[in-house]
Amino acid sequence: MVILILVGIIPCSIGTSIVVRGYKNRAVSLRESSVKNQCEILCNSLESESYLDNLDSPTINSELSLLSNIYNGRILIADSDFRVVKDTYDIDTGKTSVSKEVVSTFSSGKGTSSYDDRNAYILMTFPLITKSGRVEGVMLVSVSTNEIVQNTRILERQGYIVIVLAMFLMLLIGYFLSGWLVKPFMRVTNAINDVTDGYEDEAISVPDYSETVAITTAFNQMLSRVKVMDNSRQEFVSNVSHELKTPLTSMKVLADSLNGQDGLPVEIYQEFMQDITQEIDRENKIISDLLSMVRLDKKAATLNIEKCYIPDIFSGIIKRLKPIADKNGIRLILEPMPDVYAEVDESKLVLAFSNLIENGIKYNVEDGWVRVSMTVDHKYFYVTVADCGVGIPADQQEHIYERFYRGDKSHSTTIEGTGLGLSIARSAIALHRGVIKVNSKENEGTTFQVRIPLKHQK
Ligand code: ADP
Repeated sequence: MVILILVGIIPCSIGTSIVVRGYKNRAVSLRESSVKNQCEILCNSLESESYLDNLDSPTINSELSLLSNIYNGRILIADSDFRVVKDTYDIDTGKTSVSKEVVSTFSSGKGTSSYDDRNAYILMTFPLITKSGRVEGVMLVSVSTNEIVQNTRILERQGYIVIVLAMFLMLLIGYFLSGWLVKPFMRVTNAINDVTDGYEDEAISVPDYSETVAITTAFNQMLSRVKVMDNSRQEFVSNVSHELKTPLTSMKVLADSLNGQDGLPVEIYQEFMQDITQEIDRENKIISDLLSMVRLDKKAATLNIEKCYIPDIFSGIIKRLKPIADKNGIRLILEPMPDVYAEVDESKLVLAFSNLIENGIKYNVEDGWVRVSMTVDHKYFYVTVADCGVGIPADQQEHIYERFYRGDKSHSTTIEGTGLGLSIARSAIALHRGVIKVNSKENEGTTFQVRIPLKHQK
């Protein structure tokens, strides 16, 4: 507000003083020219009446007094000896006047005119010329401009009063206008507060200005994103609870049936205990997958990057998974790999590729195979995990990376799994700024292709 007032007052004051100064200059020059005209007429009379030889001329003397009265001025007449022969104030008569204006008029034969701003008067000289062209005297006229100065001051004062009034009015208008203009923004704030406090969870709308529309649109977009995140969080929690509860329910059923019956043969006990152990293993697997997933969560994940010899990673994985593949009658083929060194987090890549290869083994057919191969160029290494298994139906392919998603075939068959493997694999690959793609045909097989940069990009 203060800045606004200063910005208003400074130009207004400058404007006022320019106008007032302009008025003053104009008034002084008008006064000057009117005095000049009158004096020139008077000079002609002085010359024609040879006033210097006839100083008592009543006509001229009365004209001189009249003129000095009209303009509130003083007229002096000096002869060629610079002696003042006439003073309308009757103060300097008989004295010598050698002011520079008088001297210059005598020597040049031309009148002078000047304005004394400080003392507020106009000083003019006129030569009195004889018929022969000689300067026989000088008329010195001083005219007060006090009245002009006073007018100027009044004008200036009025100007400042107008400025102050205008400022006051502007402040008043500004105060009410700002309250009125800010109202829609207050409505936006209240609407946002209502959402924050939980009274509302619908999209807000304040269509008064384009700015409020922009703010509310951005807020609504954020709100719907928060809702999506909240829904996925709720879905995740309910999926986790369900997955963790399933093995517990099975164990409870198994344990209850043992408890409820007396004298059961030992074989039954052993069989039930084996089932319970399997359920415990399943629970364990779910929890460790969940932990891996949480650790891979983008924000929390810290990569432990080291330069690794990539073929060694795969020979390690194959060695560990070979017994499982053998048990399922699946041939695990590791194609000869090029000598590739890359900057990777070994344990996270092991997790990702183990899941891919394990899936190849799990979702396979009798006497099937899983083939792992690698190529490299100057920027990336490319890994292919292919199998000749059951394949993934086209309509399910877009869901396979979702948390807890399990395909129809995995549900209908007794293939064990948590639905977290591919989600974990994709997160681990994404942390390396890599890409994973799937290519699959039902009953023909599945191929996962992974591309990872050789140099780690932060
Ligand atoms: P899980 O294997 O524990 O079910 P994943 O996240 O590893 O969970 O895989 C999700 C789903 O994708 C699986 O349930 C399965 O239907 C499908 N899938 C993954 N890999 C393969 C594969 N190699 N062949 C056929 N289906 C696969």
